[in-house]
Amino acid sequence: MVLRQLAPVPQASRNGNTRPAKESAVLQRDLSYDFALLARGEGNYLVLEDGRKIFDGSGGAAVGCLGWGNQRVAEAVMKQVLAIPYCATVFYTTGVQEELCCYLVESTKGHMGRAYIVNSGSEAMEAAVKLARQYFLELTPSQPQRTRFISRRQSYHGITLGALAVGGHDYRRAKFEPLLMKNATRVSPCNAYRGKNPGETDEDYVARLAKELDDEFQTVGPDTVCAFIAEPVVGAALGCMPAVPGYFKAVAEVCRKYGALLIFDEVMCGMGRTGTLHAWEQEGVAPDIQTIGKALGGGYQPVAGVLASKHVMDVLQKGSSVFVHGHTYQGHPAGCAAALEVQRIILEENLLANVRAMGALLSRRLKERLASHPNVGNIRGRGLFWALEFVANKATAEPFPVEDHVAMEICEKGLSKEYLVNVYPGSGSADGIRGDHIIISPAFNIRSDEVEWLVETIGRLVDDYFAEKR
Ligand code: PLP
Repeated sequence: MVLRQLAPVPQASRNGNTRPAKESAVLQRDLSYDFALLARGEGNYLVLEDGRKIFDGSGGAAVGCLGWGNQRVAEAVMKQVLAIPYCATVFYTTGVQEELCCYLVESTKGHMGRAYIVNSGSEAMEAAVKLARQYFLELTPSQPQRTRFISRRQSYHGITLGALAVGGHDYRRAKFEPLLMKNATRVSPCNAYRGKNPGETDEDYVARLAKELDDEFQTVGPDTVCAFIAEPVVGAALGCMPAVPGYFKAVAEVCRKYGALLIFDEVMCGMGRTGTLHAWEQEGVAPDIQTIGKALGGGYQPVAGVLASKHVMDVLQKGSSVFVHGHTYQGHPAGCAAALEVQRIILEENLLANVRAMGALLSRRLKERLASHPNVGNIRGRGLFWALEFVANKATAEPFPVEDHVAMEICEKGLSKEYLVNVYPGSGSADGIRGDHIIISPAFNIRSDEVEWLVETIGRLVDDYFAEKR
């Protein structure tokens, strides 16, 4: 069989100009952007079929944590696939699944009791939501009235219907709103750039947000809430936004007051991306349920997971002892093998220390290079997870019109021969619809000379883009 692409056809671009674009038989493709055939990865570079060699400054969508073409991970997957590629987990388990779950549980220093391995962040969030519900059904005495979830606006917790329902991504929800469960409501995100009132201290801001959450519990019925859901560092939806100090302690306190669980979505910010294996370690607050994804397997296999705390597991074990959930490909041996090898390499090469050191350098250099740019409104992040938020007016933080697609255009321009850099677009950071940011999230093994090149190249890209736009 000959693999081929559909023939090129002229394509109306998003700006109304007709330009040649490639055709594709792939269903999920926005043809208004140029796209290229990816031939292979070499360390921190993506090599395209047309010969372009692009520095991967974002590891795809903050997925790649070891770069590409890692021989050890490839061999570990190959060995596992040849040994046994699939395991129906009712009667069987595999050494790689047991070892990975054991490693994940132990990495939480006694807080978590069990791990569950799935194939994507959305699946992990679906499982987390159902686990919280089942926990309350099996608690003594049972609390079947707990059917609600509270999350935050401008949050993204996955694309499947349950995960979309508990998220606050307006654009991704809009068309499917009638299909989404109605028992999920949202409060304000913690956004030091746009959410704080003028002159408001961090303490006052935290107190205001905690009160808003408390009020939401009161509005929906305090004993009807299963869980509050949040990302410790908000990824795609808001742009690498850490909370202000004390925020998570305050919201955890509200959850405790009303007996609700705390679910942390660490699909994007977890597994070392922010400098500690779990982002919550830097908040001094451990969740009852946690999801992980992208940097778990570093892109070598589709693999994600759910961690359940000891007390959640105790309740299930004393109750039905079975989580009423399951996927054909849960605990997939190839995914587990990839994740295990990726995590071994992170440990052996002490890469979390590198994330912290290179993260500090990246933060400092980004601010030196771009903080004074008239269209860079805010630079924020943690570890190797940074975002630039672009604004039309720096003094008022006014975002660009949505139709300008600023973040997408910058990322697209970055792939051209003048820059050869890959950064990841986000949008909606101002109010959920308007607002642009790009994400810079390189591999955990990035070197200081690569950080310097990356910042200088992104600096040049941003300068050129806005100079041409004016
Ligand atoms: N949660 C967060 C915070 C994410 O960033 C994502 C994906 O970007 C998801 C959940 C969903 O993960 P996936 O795309 O693997 O289904």
